[in-house]
Amino acid sequence: MAIVQTGIPITSQANEQYIRALVSTYPFLRTEVLTNTAFQRPVSTLVAGNGPRKVIFSASHHANEWITSLVLLQFAEELAEAIRSGGQIYGRNARELAEQVTIYMVPMVDPDGVDLVTGAIGPGDIQYDLAERLARDYPMIPFPDGWKANLLGVDLNLQYPAGWLQAREIKFAQGFVNPGPRDYVGRAPLNQFETRALAGYTEYIDPALVVALHSQGKEIYWQFKDILVPGAEELGRKMAAASGYTLADTPFNSSFAGYKDWFIQEFRRPGYTIEVGEGVNPLPLSQFDEIYRDVAPILIIAATGE
Ligand SMILES: [Zn+2]
Repeated sequence: MAIVQTGIPITSQANEQYIRALVSTYPFLRTEVLTNTAFQRPVSTLVAGNGPRKVIFSASHHANEWITSLVLLQFAEELAEAIRSGGQIYGRNARELAEQVTIYMVPMVDPDGVDLVTGAIGPGDIQYDLAERLARDYPMIPFPDGWKANLLGVDLNLQYPAGWLQAREIKFAQGFVNPGPRDYVGRAPLNQFETRALAGYTEYIDPALVVALHSQGKEIYWQFKDILVPGAEELGRKMAAASGYTLADTPFNSSFAGYKDWFIQEFRRPGYTIEVGEGVNPLPLSQFDEIYRDVAPILIIAATGE
């Protein structure tokens, strides 16, 4: 029976349960805790493969994009099962893949925020009240469905030191000047547990490529400013061809201080934001199968780099 339940919304507790169950079912998988959040939820990894090429895949930088956690966990389970059985995954021999690549996954970067959006933190909970108070400054944003930030009200994908001051200027001009549901950049780059942990992990792993899963739009972002990364556009085109997603230019107002921006700037290697699915976040689980079918081949291309 499948470990990852893709028919029900995910919580931080379910994320931890799935990871533990995957690691105990497939002993060649590994996990560790990168950090604990301000509200003491773990940010965990799930690692597959033993190859010299290293990649980092992350999901749920944004709370109401939690469907991306299920995509990454389902991918981990499908890959692990293919390795165990000696089978194929999207046309690749899984055991050969595992000899070529080590895939470092961070399925839920923002567990505090995800628990708010999927209901593990509900009315009457002190954490819910705290978030609701922050959200009062932003009455136009639906609560809690519009919540993207962590529970300190910081947007984790506006936290990276890659044009952070420009992001701050843009978001402040749009009115996001205080902690809230989305688009608040924080008081300084990397001043949140989650972003500091992911940046530190990325420096430690020193990967050849990163993918950050977001929703929505069926688009693939691959650029930061005018930095030329050899091979990045070509690989992006392959991802687009395999998924039907569009290889797109990042909208100017979203083009600073994201994880992939920072990775491209610091490492000069391919970094991608994949905007999965289409509609209003949080995307309905009825889209899951289609999203997974489109995105899994992207992850294989990212893993192999070809
Ligand atoms: Zn996002």
